[in-house]
Amino acid sequence: MNIKTHVKDGIIHVKKDDLIDHPTYDFKVNAIQPTSSKKVRLKTKVVSLKDAHKRMGHTGVQQIENSIKHNHYEESIDLIKEPNEFWCETCKVSKATRRNHYTGSMNEYSIDNEPGSSWCMDIFGPVSNSNSDTKRYMFIMVDNNTRYCMTSTHFNKNAETILAQIKKNIQYVETQFDRKVRKINSDQGTEFTNDQIAKYFVSKGIHHIFSTTQDHAANGRAERYIRTIVTDATTLLKHSNLRIKFWEYAVTSATNVRNCLENKTTGQLPLKAISSQPVKVRFMSFLPFGEQGIIWNHNHNKLKPSGFNAIVLCKDANSYGYKFFVPSIKKLSLPIITQFQTTQWIQY
Ligand SMILES: [Zn+2]
Repeated sequence: MNIKTHVKDGIIHVKKDDLIDHPTYDFKVNAIQPTSSKKVRLKTKVVSLKDAHKRMGHTGVQQIENSIKHNHYEESIDLIKEPNEFWCETCKVSKATRRNHYTGSMNEYSIDNEPGSSWCMDIFGPVSNSNSDTKRYMFIMVDNNTRYCMTSTHFNKNAETILAQIKKNIQYVETQFDRKVRKINSDQGTEFTNDQIAKYFVSKGIHHIFSTTQDHAANGRAERYIRTIVTDATTLLKHSNLRIKFWEYAVTSATNVRNCLENKTTGQLPLKAISSQPVKVRFMSFLPFGEQGIIWNHNHNKLKPSGFNAIVLCKDANSYGYKFFVPSIKKLSLPIITQFQTTQWIQY
């Protein structure tokens, strides 16, 4: 998660050490310029409210302000507020249905559980207007204590698919956060009530608690987080005019943002709260999803730079890099994802 970016003259610079998935190009690619913010001149730690709102996936302005104000990030961010009232074109469109589920729907903060020990899980899908070549199911796990949220997208919601993901998630929590998963809440969907899952939970000593129809609220948190992430992802896609095929990247992006925004109930960043070791979260490591940009070829003549269009997607958990979509080299029906290692600052 330690992607460092450097904004200079309105250009987001990301350092490329290594092109992991290289198309056929032999470019040295190391800068992406968001075409829509050309006129915005930003110094490194000075961020306009609008830019901050875009970086954090069009989430609530108040929550972003609080996260910055309460020093949850490594950098001290200077948030520049516009003189007139904040207004976002994208959010205007979806405001009516947006964010309402936050008000009054938060349960009491589960202080009786230690971080990462008690979870709820649920499945969403298929996402509307999608077909079977899109990862259109989402599996979600939310930590009841820290509200840290894990999402994954899948082509189907078979019991095997879901069990494999549950195992992966639990392993991740144990290894990356050094936490023990002790109980998991779910509804009685067939994906959760089969023998293989029961066997696995017994072997791990995990208590699987089923919410009954009478006790619907028990799994309410997972359902609420599904709505949050799905709404976030929908907004991101709408804003960027990307096809539903990119839903999985929007979901990843939205989840990353939510885990790095101050939670209203706990007052902490979920990612920092669940980690038993100190974690550094850099605000500037978030790039605005769907932003149109140009990836420059720096081997080229500097006076006439050549580049190709790229679209910012999401952080790549496997490489500490960021994922970009490069439309010009899209050959197949599947998007070609170019990944960059972005572990160092780029200096001009
Ligand atoms: Zn917005």
